[in-house]
Amino acid sequence: MGVVRRLSASFERAVGVSELDPSIRAGLHRQQIRAIVEVLPIAAAGAIVAALSLVWVAAGTSAFPAVLIWAAALLVSLRRGLTLWRGSVHDGAPGDGTLRAIVTDTLIAGTLWGLVPILLIGQDQATVTLITAVAIAGMLSAGGLILVTLPQAALAFLVPIFLGSLVALTQMQDGATALVLAVLLVCFMAVIILASQRHVRDFVVHRVSEMKISEQNEIISLLLKEFEENSSDWLWEFDCDGRIDRVSERFEAAAGRTRAALVGVDFLAFLQGLGDGNDPVIRGIKTAIADGAPFSDVEIRIGEAPGETWWRMTGKPARDEFGAYRGYIGTASDVTAEKQAERRISFLAHNDALTGLVNRARFTELLKQNVARLERYGSPFAVLYLDLDQFKAVNDSMGHMVGDRLLEMVARRIKNIVRETDIAARLGGDEFALILANECETATVAGLAARLVEDLSSPYQIEGEFVSIGVSIGIAVAPINGIRPDQILRNADLALYRAKAEGRGAYRFFEAQMDSDLRERRMLEAELRQAIAENELVLHYQPLVSAEDNRPSGFEALVRWNHPIRGLVPPSEFIPLAEQSGLIKQIGDWTIEAACAAATVWPGDLNVAVNLSARHFQLSDIVSVVRDALDKTGLPPHRLELEITESLLIENPDEVIEKLNRIQALGVTVAMDDFGTGYSSLAYLLKFPFDKIKIDKSFVTASSEDAVARDILRSIVSLGRTLKIHITAEGVETLEQVEFLREIACNQLQGFYFAKPLEELDLAGYVLANAATRFDARADDAAGAQPRTGATG
Ligand code: C2E
Ligand code: CA
Ligand code: CA
Repeated sequence: MGVVRRLSASFERAVGVSELDPSIRAGLHRQQIRAIVEVLPIAAAGAIVAALSLVWVAAGTSAFPAVLIWAAALLVSLRRGLTLWRGSVHDGAPGDGTLRAIVTDTLIAGTLWGLVPILLIGQDQATVTLITAVAIAGMLSAGGLILVTLPQAALAFLVPIFLGSLVALTQMQDGATALVLAVLLVCFMAVIILASQRHVRDFVVHRVSEMKISEQNEIISLLLKEFEENSSDWLWEFDCDGRIDRVSERFEAAAGRTRAALVGVDFLAFLQGLGDGNDPVIRGIKTAIADGAPFSDVEIRIGEAPGETWWRMTGKPARDEFGAYRGYIGTASDVTAEKQAERRISFLAHNDALTGLVNRARFTELLKQNVARLERYGSPFAVLYLDLDQFKAVNDSMGHMVGDRLLEMVARRIKNIVRETDIAARLGGDEFALILANECETATVAGLAARLVEDLSSPYQIEGEFVSIGVSIGIAVAPINGIRPDQILRNADLALYRAKAEGRGAYRFFEAQMDSDLRERRMLEAELRQAIAENELVLHYQPLVSAEDNRPSGFEALVRWNHPIRGLVPPSEFIPLAEQSGLIKQIGDWTIEAACAAATVWPGDLNVAVNLSARHFQLSDIVSVVRDALDKTGLPPHRLELEITESLLIENPDEVIEKLNRIQALGVTVAMDDFGTGYSSLAYLLKFPFDKIKIDKSFVTASSEDAVARDILRSIVSLGRTLKIHITAEGVETLEQVEFLREIACNQLQGFYFAKPLEELDLAGYVLANAATRFDARADDAAGAQPRTGATG
């Protein structure tokens, strides 16, 4: 059957089937076979009728036996072909083998029909010839028609008939008729072949494109299905009338409506119904659709805050293959989570995470906006700068958790007091600020500030404990106190500084005076810098006496500034400034060394006490400063005492304690100054083994009148005894105080009763003059005599 195969292959090539994808070619073959099988019963019936009429017309002729055999053979071939063809339809994909079998069968059938004219036309009977000619013509045309979709089969059927007919014509006696018939036959064949070739080409093209489309549709629907399954997006579609078309499950779920309730609904009306009817975004979509323009990543809000959801939609007009408008198609996704995260991020960028108040960056921005409004519309406003008093102490003694809770509660109280239109910010740490929009009336602002002071100072209950803090407030009003953001804020800060300096727990309005004070401070700072360079600082020494016998046991070095014009400036006027500007480092270094140097010339039993600023401690490597001073002056370490206040221990207590330990290890005495004024003096006493406590002078002063103060003093002294800590009382001014302190067994006393701070030059005189008291202190006291002092005033 090599001929058939080659024939089939060349035909497949001719009609463009051979280049097709194997799967498409198989599909095409199946369709070709099906197209034939569908009409096969009718074709078979036609063939039987034709065969019967031939048998009938052949009866009585010499060809009759041959025709009978022929008819039997035809029936067998029809049956065989029918079974084979039917079976092939049910096979999954008919292979080239099936196709070849079919071509073979048609060839057999064609050959049988090709024998008919040879058998019968030679009879030369008009009736026989006529019926034979009609039957053959019918076979040719019916075969051409039926087999048109499978050209190789058509040819296998037609060519033998054609050839048989030609052979028969040569046997005809009437040469002219035979010639005409032959011409007709050839033309007839040519027409059939040409027409069927055209037809089969169309058929192939048509069926192939149909198959490709259905394959594409399958792929598209698979992709779409996957898209819907694997992304949070869903598809939407509306037709050329703007009515929702095809609704996916996810769309149903997102819209919260059934498919039935969605299909056919006007798309724009649907969108408007979801969100705010006036949403400019929806109006934008409407305009885009009206213009037939695409839109992408448009976010629409659905429902009302806070329970609202967000959809992000993209859509574009859909057109059919002729470019006609078919509506819109697009995707949508629920971006609520994304939106919430976005909002959270922007909230965090603009707000303080702990209190939820506006943060410093946002506050600065808002302050600028208020200034812009002031410039444009003349709307005044007030800025309040708040600073909590004693917050650090609470934070340190009760822990950061409590500190955080406290800040949250403070923020809540602030929010409760101010109006919705006011801005409340946390600038950092325990600093807050407010902008009171459209407010400049002094009385109103003062009223609010007073309420803030009162409210924020009332106790807070945190974890079952009551905590009390205070607040100081500085106020600047724009435009009176400034028209630039930085200026307004600085002036509020200056007012705050003043409020704190004047005892805290109060509010102060900015005054021009504060500005000049600031300028004065700046000048002073410059002067102080110079003073250090020009040795204008001096140390005075205040005696520390033994409580037992009033005998001096040492001196406390107290710094002064010998100002060329202002005279002797007390430390309270320049130490805070030096601490702020960092000059305290130089001052402190100098003080320690100068005090050690001075003490080297004193009798060996007299110690020197030096005050150490917390700031100095932070700014320098204090252990080496102390060691260097001792090395340089040669003062034995045990004769040096360092007085520190508990403020030193508030920040980084572990680090500070480690340094204090190293100082103590040098042999230097460490004393806690101003004991009792801080928030947690006792707690620190347990954290570091102080050698000495200096009870603050406020307790000593109060002890004259106040029984409670006396009780406190008694307790501190007995505590000192228990902890083996030396106790000194400072600020002793009266004999009565001396007697009380001696009675409760205080170790050491200091105060104007004994001596004011002395100039270095007067020390020798003082020591000599008070030598007597070393031996006869009790006799003097009993007589009520005042010890002689060498005070400089
Ligand atoms: P402080 O360490 O508590 O020093 C005691 C202060 O009380 C001294 O004031 C002293 O003159 C004063 N005073 C002493 N006895 C009496 C008294 O009987 N009655 C009253 N009313 N006052 C008395 P001063 O010298 O003005 O020093 C004030 C503060 O300045 C000191 O308080 C200390 O904290 C600081 N200071 C002084 N000198 C230095 C220093 O060299 N370095 C550092 N960092 N601070 C210093
Ligand atoms: Ca002191
Ligand atoms: Ca003190």
